[in-house]
Amino acid sequence: MKIILTHDADSIAKPIEHILARHDRFTKQDLKAAEKGTINLYNNIEEIVELESELGFHSTFFIPAFLFNLHAISGTLKRIQRKGSEVQLHYVHEQHPQYEGLFAMQKDFFMELIGPVDGVRCHNLWVTEALLKLFHDNGFHYDSSYRAETVNTVEPFAIHENLIEIPIGIMDTDLFGRFHFTEKEAWKYILKELETAKDHRSQSFTLLFHQESFRMKGGRLYAKLLKHFAQQGYECICCCDVPLVQKAKEQ
Ligand SMILES: [Zn+2]
Repeated sequence: MKIILTHDADSIAKPIEHILARHDRFTKQDLKAAEKGTINLYNNIEEIVELESELGFHSTFFIPAFLFNLHAISGTLKRIQRKGSEVQLHYVHEQHPQYEGLFAMQKDFFMELIGPVDGVRCHNLWVTEALLKLFHDNGFHYDSSYRAETVNTVEPFAIHENLIEIPIGIMDTDLFGRFHFTEKEAWKYILKELETAKDHRSQSFTLLFHQESFRMKGGRLYAKLLKHFAQQGYECICCCDVPLVQKAKEQ
């Protein structure tokens, strides 16, 4: 079984007042560095890629065009693309009669700054049949917005002709924001879900950890998980390496 590594970016910076109000999320060392301004606790993209590269892993980053100023990290994103990371669109849906126009704006802006869009994940995993059709009509080859629990499988599958769905096996914010797990409980839960997928002879399992949670309580499990995957001999890939996605791109 392969592990598909993915990250969303919902923010890349927060004011120091915001950080101090949530000081219990961070280590004392990180807080001190943040107060001095020597570290940005909410932008961990390059650290994540460095750690993954050391272990021979690749991942996909879903980056929004609308949640923050994309210019601020376009250089970073180009650098990680050169290192073999995949960067795709984190689509932000607004319940608005002009949502198709807003979608086109996000896609065009992303393409201008980052490059071609092949895959998408909806912010807050807010996805509908109409949106899947929109992604399909725009030539996207995959979506990764459904939880495995919604579509009853952890395995990628064709959800439309030439549009592959890559279901999310585990999302960090479900573990800590919904289940309110401790790190110990979350670790146990993740390993159990992986075992279940293996028992069902699944070919792959998709993980979503937000990039901004990398230094936070809970999100810190990601680094520990990567080491675990390396020790266990798992191959960790990005979405564009999923065989069904490659096949869809060839057609
Ligand atoms: Zn998001």
